[in-house]
Amino acid sequence: MCINIVRFGSGGLISTTPNSILDTMGFELPELEYDYDALEPHIDAETMELHHSKHHAGYTSKLNAAIEGTELDGLGIEELMTGHFDNAAVRNNGGGYWNHEMFWKTMGPNGGGEPNGDLANAITDTFGSFDSMKEQFANAAMTRFGSGWAWLCVANGTLCICSTPNQDNPLMTGEGIPILGVDVWEHAYYKSYGPGRANYIQAWWNVVDWNMVATNYEGAI
Ligand code: MN
Repeated sequence: MCINIVRFGSGGLISTTPNSILDTMGFELPELEYDYDALEPHIDAETMELHHSKHHAGYTSKLNAAIEGTELDGLGIEELMTGHFDNAAVRNNGGGYWNHEMFWKTMGPNGGGEPNGDLANAITDTFGSFDSMKEQFANAAMTRFGSGWAWLCVANGTLCICSTPNQDNPLMTGEGIPILGVDVWEHAYYKSYGPGRANYIQAWWNVVDWNMVATNYEGAI
């Protein structure tokens, strides 16, 4: 029995915070936990800087502009994405905001290698081997026509791989809970790799922070 449900913002069941306060708040561009050049040589510094300070910042400001002064102001990002899929500005910019935050957090200068523990066991159980998972994931990324993302997700307690177009993600579409995603928009790789998406994905494995992916897995399972 749910007796203590408190949801903030307009539309909530119980609102204890004035909307005038919530309305002054917006989504903020998350800071990176490493320098722009920390992922070199796999992802170059200029790409990282433009990607974070221009692209991600752009999704953030456009998301804020899309919800400011509307009944959506004050909702959390996941509630916005899953509950307002038909609102193109919220879908595109909210997805851009959420996807890139996960992307930065699941990469790092000490990345690469392989996961261990429960995540490693789940990968072996589901895909046969770590290399087989990587192959299927890279295939999803390569076959995503145009711009989008490839994902490793948890759905119904099991790992799965999918891809989404544009800034959509599996939370929005109900396909699963993402624990790792790779950005295959050209802005993510073109400067270093040109049209060579396959080389980018191969290099990207070297910066994946499997400890963070394991944390995401524990949260999703
Ligand atoms: Mn991007």
